[in-house]
Amino acid sequence: MAAFGSVFMPEMAMARFDGANWGQSAIVPSDSISLHPGAHVLHYASTCFEGLKAFRHEDGSVAIFRMDKNIARMQQSSELLSLPKFDAALLSQMIIDIVRHYAADVPTPPGSMYIRPTHIGTEPAIGKAATPTLTSLLYVLLSPVGDYFAGGSRGLRLLMEDNARCAPHMGMIKSGGNYASALYPTMQAKAKYQADQVLFCPNGDVQETGAANFLLIDGNEIITKALDASFLHGVTRDTILTLARDLGMKVSERELTVEELLERAAKPGTEAALSGTAAVLAPVGTLIHQGKEYKVGNGEPGSTTAKLRQTLNDIQWGKTADTHGWLTKI
Ligand SMILES: *Cc1c(COP(=O)(O)O)cnc(C)c1O
Repeated sequence: MAAFGSVFMPEMAMARFDGANWGQSAIVPSDSISLHPGAHVLHYASTCFEGLKAFRHEDGSVAIFRMDKNIARMQQSSELLSLPKFDAALLSQMIIDIVRHYAADVPTPPGSMYIRPTHIGTEPAIGKAATPTLTSLLYVLLSPVGDYFAGGSRGLRLLMEDNARCAPHMGMIKSGGNYASALYPTMQAKAKYQADQVLFCPNGDVQETGAANFLLIDGNEIITKALDASFLHGVTRDTILTLARDLGMKVSERELTVEELLERAAKPGTEAALSGTAAVLAPVGTLIHQGKEYKVGNGEPGSTTAKLRQTLNDIQWGKTADTHGWLTKI
């Protein structure tokens, strides 16, 4: 099986902003774009993206999950990066156009079609370190993906670090620079502790990992950091919290300290998970803090994590009613 996100459909949807207007979107080859080496994005990182999925249902139809929420987040990312504004209708049309174009290639469950809208500043202007790009490019790539847990589901190892993942005012922007800033500490954590990810806990406040939100499940309660500008507002996080409430669980969106997390993790039956579009909900088995290892519960993937993931998958795959109106049939 190819690595997640390494296979692309040969065409993508693309639209250009010329400094005054958005042009018509078109379906074009996805293997190259032409960019001036002085393009704003290559020097000053004017870039943001989204990640969402389309699913094939048993009747053969294709549905996109929570497209509106992802589009709204991309508009917000673009605005906070001073990239040109675009209408939600433009991006939604581009996503629907390209997913329809490849409707026959959307994998059956547990696979799906991963959708990657991307917005970059294209103006050739290296004097614009402190000025926005005038022109930009918006495109939507598709990547068919298989079962994220094909190798089996094991508890992840997270190294808890006192540092922030990115600058605090950049946290809710899905932008390349934030991943760049998390990469070096993550590689160090892998080399030194065989950690899978870093759980960033600036000043003892449990935030998120490099590309996923963190949830603590203690019996009937889910605890996760309340939304603020310092971290990414995951659509999966919002979805899981909504489903947990539906299932009668108590959802606590509030500050979670490193101290409280380690205390609660030590209790048998406690679970922790990472949420994100790619993996949906991945169990966390071990926390590493100041050189010491702490198992979460018994260290194995837990039943509540599995149940929440299954509940979400069933909606995505059209196996249970979509009572929240999260699916767009194309
Ligand atoms: C994308 C991302 C998430 C998860 O967001 P989803 O909308 O659930 O996919 C969480 N944290 C970071 C830093 C991310 O980049």
